Amino acid sequence: MPSLRCPCGSGLPLDECCGRLHDGTATAATAEQLMRSRYSAFALGDPGYLLATWHSTTRPPVLELDPDVHWTGLDLLATTGGTLLSAEGTVEFRASYRVSGRTGAQHERSRFVREDGRWRYLDGVSVT
Ligand SMILES: [Zn+2]
Repeated sequence: MPSLRCPCGSGLPLDECCGRLHDGTATAATAEQLMRSRYSAFALGDPGYLLATWHSTTRPPVLELDPDVHWTGLDLLATTGGTLLSAEGTVEFRASYRVSGRTGAQHERSRFVREDGRWRYLDGVSVT
């Protein structure tokens, strides 16, 4: 059975891309990798991974994903920091979705910092 294409748009099979982060085989080396894997977790409906990669100071107690929202694509627009050697970084992205026959996009600049050496999502601001 052919492997599912990764939702993050890398063009790779899921199990060679964000799937390795979701199942704990690998950890994100860069903030951009974590961003991609979190988008894929939204697209695949994996709130556990989203909570696990949320910074402890901003993580919500529970996360319910809206099953009516279908994520249809991710565009990375800009990054700062977030490299192998960085302690923090930002990723600006546009995530497209479809809900109840309508399409829309979430345009956000997310902040990522390391916690216990691993990249975590801190927070994000909408870009309009
Ligand atoms: Zn991916």
